Amino acid sequence: MPPAEFLAIGREEIARYGVELVRDRVVEVERGRDGTVEQGEDFAVVLAGGRTVRARRLVVATGLRDELPAVPGLAERFGRDVLHCPFCHGWEVRDQPFGVLGTAPTSVHQALMVSQWSKDVRFFLHTVAEEELSDEDLRRLAAAGVDVVPGEVKGLVVEDDRLTGVRLAGGTPSGEGTTHARSVLFVAPHAVPQTGLLEQLGAELHETPFGAYPVVDATGLTTVPGVWAAGNAIGFAEQVVHAASGGYRAASAIVGDLLMTDLDAVARV
Ligand SMILES: Cc1cc2nc3c(=O)[nH]c(=O)nc-3n(C[C@H](O)[C@H](O)[C@H](O)COP(=O)(O)OP(=O)(O)OC[C@H]3O[C@@H](n4cnc5c(N)ncnc54)[C@H](O)[C@@H]3O)c2cc1C
Repeated sequence: MPPAEFLAIGREEIARYGVELVRDRVVEVERGRDGTVEQGEDFAVVLAGGRTVRARRLVVATGLRDELPAVPGLAERFGRDVLHCPFCHGWEVRDQPFGVLGTAPTSVHQALMVSQWSKDVRFFLHTVAEEELSDEDLRRLAAAGVDVVPGEVKGLVVEDDRLTGVRLAGGTPSGEGTTHARSVLFVAPHAVPQTGLLEQLGAELHETPFGAYPVVDATGLTTVPGVWAAGNAIGFAEQVVHAASGGYRAASAIVGDLLMTDLDAVARV
């Protein structure tokens, strides 16, 4: 299903339950006056458009930001024929001529993983030096039938709105680089965590090999009382099904939390 269609259905469904969708950017989040949510104190969510929304509990679901390698024309094709995830796209592009853009020695792993979907894989070393590949890398690449192509990728060839080639930097007598006919290019974006709002709230983060993400419990509760996080806001490897599941777990915990808070307030009176 196209992602836009998936989102449209979700939005239409939540509207039927009376949920208001606000199309704006959150620029600031503040905790209740005494810094506690114990007495049903709220959060102030300040929007770029100037509106302030108050809430008793928060779920931060700000995802992550993909920073793509700086190859001209590459960003425009991301998610179409410039891809990153064999699990998301492998089946759809199977048996086509693949390229894999080397940006770190770990790109070898990506080249090996995608080799399960095509017998025609070229691993463009790009910014990876040949010496950075270990003997084990070379053995595995050879065993998987992946061609290793040294040289920097200078650009993509796009015809009729489809990727048709990957162009390398000069080297031929005319100064023009070689073009490799490819219809799919796999890249490894740099995933940047979007933790700004959580940091404003004082949430504790923990370092991972893919950046710093919030410390959360099994329901997604952060170290800040009343603030949950879900989806890629809690980690690099979350996918759509995890994001939906995280939203469910946070929501069920919040419903219980609000109920107990309210019952305790009644019991105190
Ligand atoms: C090209 C591509 C293909 C993919 N294919 C698949 C696939 O086939 N299957 C799969 O399961 N996953 C796939 N994924 C991964 C999937 O898209 C994510 O894991 C998923 O969207 C995470 O959902 P999320 O709600 O956590 O974050 P997102 O979907 O990233 O949503 C976060 C939202 O928060 C908004 N936001 C951020 N900051 C603010 C702010 N301050 N104020 C207001 N809004 C803000 C963002 O604009 C964004 O709309 C793919 C990803 C990419 C890039």
